[in-house]
Amino acid sequence: MVYSASEQRYDSMPYNKTGRSGLKLPAISLGLWHNFGGVDTFEQGARMVRRAFDQGITHFDLANNYGPPPGSAEETFGRILRTDLAPYRDELIISTKAGYRMGPGPYGERGSRKSMLASLDQSLKRLGLEYVDIFYSHRYDSDTPLEETMGALDQAVRQGKALYVGISNYGPEQSREAITILQRLGTPCLIHQVHYSMYERRLEQGLQQVLEEEGVGSIAYSPLARGLLSDRYLESIPADSRAAGTSVFLNREDITEAKLAKSRQLNQLAKERGQSLAQMAVAWVLRQGRVTSALIGVSKEQQLDDIIGATKQLDFTQEELAAIERILS
Ligand code: NDP
Repeated sequence: MVYSASEQRYDSMPYNKTGRSGLKLPAISLGLWHNFGGVDTFEQGARMVRRAFDQGITHFDLANNYGPPPGSAEETFGRILRTDLAPYRDELIISTKAGYRMGPGPYGERGSRKSMLASLDQSLKRLGLEYVDIFYSHRYDSDTPLEETMGALDQAVRQGKALYVGISNYGPEQSREAITILQRLGTPCLIHQVHYSMYERRLEQGLQQVLEEEGVGSIAYSPLARGLLSDRYLESIPADSRAAGTSVFLNREDITEAKLAKSRQLNQLAKERGQSLAQMAVAWVLRQGRVTSALIGVSKEQQLDDIIGATKQLDFTQEELAAIERILS
């Protein structure tokens, strides 16, 4: 059946301005790092993407190496675009990144002009697009002058292959330098994609301040701590969960009793707020307008519906924030 997007798709999702830019991003964005690769079921991925768009999620985040196998998440999304979302291209913010290992040899990773621009061309091919909305340097590369990596981002925009550029996983000082170079080149840095959750607080150690001073937006990745800040692991490690699978970023050893004890207390607090723990975790990264968007992952449509429910209750009282800090301390 031909997909037709919900008429109500813009009725409830909040959209936030990205730093000083006029571009607005949905409070919740969907990442395709896990569950959309060649090893996953295409139709299940397509259902989750359609359901996200139907509820106002206009931003979909990719990278050259997402899969597995690397590249296959972009192929999946390209196929969903062709079958379902092509008529809505102008309503979508699609991002991709280059920097981590993608291909063999010296140009298959890092931040040289050669590898960044070749990677973007390959991403565009896999996605079946003429341009992406945001092109990121996925990580700081100490082997390449920052001028060269930022020059590649600038060139991507000048070639019409990206509308905006961003950086990810850069420290506060590296970010300040990158932002300054991009400003000089005339292609302002739109956004920083940063690991941020109740369990991962590095953003608060200098980077937040740099981004605010420079008028750069931020998108918080893994706000659920890859599932630890949800009810996924509170009782056991389900067979179909990320920790039970082959992910090197979350495995059984990461699900410690100490973490679970905290997650259970946070779960109780979330209940008192009338939310699920996943909803509270997303609301928490968005509190007081600190970050532009929460970048989540899902393996099921029900998880998506649950998380989107977070937008009904984004405010926290001072007592609730203090209680969270007490639990985390
Ligand atoms: P999350 O912290 O949102 O974790 C997602 C996982 O949490 C899901 O796969 C699911 O686990 C579980 N989950 C989600 N919703 C629920 C729910 N309602 N109830 C119970 N469990 C739930 O984020 P990710 O780690 O997936 O990262 C999100 C995105 O961030 C990525 O897709 C990518 O776009 C980006 N990212 C960027 C990085 C960078 O270096 N720039 C690095 C990492 C991520 P399960 O699969 O077990 O069901």
